[in-house]
Amino acid sequence: MTQAVFRFAPSPNGRLHLGHAYSALLNQRLARSIGGKLLLRIENTDTVRCTPVLEARMLDDLRWLGFEWDGEPRRQSEHDTDYAEAVGRLEAMGLAYPAFLSRGEARRLVEQETSQGHSWPYDPDGVPHYPGGEERLLSEQERARRVAAGDAFAMRFDMERALSLPGLQTERLCWQEECSGPDGEKGEITADPAAWGDFMLTGRDRAAAYHLACVLDDAIQGVTHVVRGRDLYHATSAHRLLQELLGLPEPLYCHHDLILDSDGRKLSKSRGDTSVAELRAAGATPGDITRMVGL
Ligand code: GLU
Repeated sequence: MTQAVFRFAPSPNGRLHLGHAYSALLNQRLARSIGGKLLLRIENTDTVRCTPVLEARMLDDLRWLGFEWDGEPRRQSEHDTDYAEAVGRLEAMGLAYPAFLSRGEARRLVEQETSQGHSWPYDPDGVPHYPGGEERLLSEQERARRVAAGDAFAMRFDMERALSLPGLQTERLCWQEECSGPDGEKGEITADPAAWGDFMLTGRDRAAAYHLACVLDDAIQGVTHVVRGRDLYHATSAHRLLQELLGLPEPLYCHHDLILDSDGRKLSKSRGDTSVAELRAAGATPGDITRMVGL
């Protein structure tokens, strides 16, 4: 049997908090329990929010916690060509298109629709679906002309076209859930990629967006077990579709409990929730943190 491969994939856009500590230590515990490898991936395609200083601090907190990863960490910011190649493949399949609307323009179009009483779909993260559907239909020449004219664009995934591809049996697009979803879902879960609409593949700065970078890296790193927070449960629907289209292997998934704050909200780096560094400075030991997260 091939060796199991786990990964912990934080974005260094703040300090490591208890939620990360739980995810990292759970991955480590599960990897050790079946003699698997444990990899570290730095998800830093957003180079404005994810800085080398924050990354160094995160690695220091992880080492202090006793998180021991195998090999060198994979840093997404160093692998633009892998992501660009995949976008090129999707484009060649007619499944990626340049999306020229700015955030503000997109927001105004959605507001126009909803103010007229029309309903508008939102993705599982609460973001309205991209309203630039006609851009999918631009001719090659018109696209090329706008790109050459320097019009800013993100690359987006053409969901409608992908789901109507002959041979893609979306009703059979599933994943194996080893932990559970928000409503206790377990076992074979049917993916619902349409919920994501035309999600972004790259931003206007050409940096790869989360779904694409994550799926490619899981495949490139040979990940067999994706153990991550339940907040990413719905993302797996988009991930399974990309894996299917790009011919990538399907890992097992375990979406674990989130560590919540006293108001029942998910901890967040941006709100400055309990960081491992603060607890450490206040005298906590790695063993204390492990107990605090219930492991
Ligand atoms: N980078 C993501 C985060 O910090 C995790 C991605 C994943 O595990 O798939 O929330």
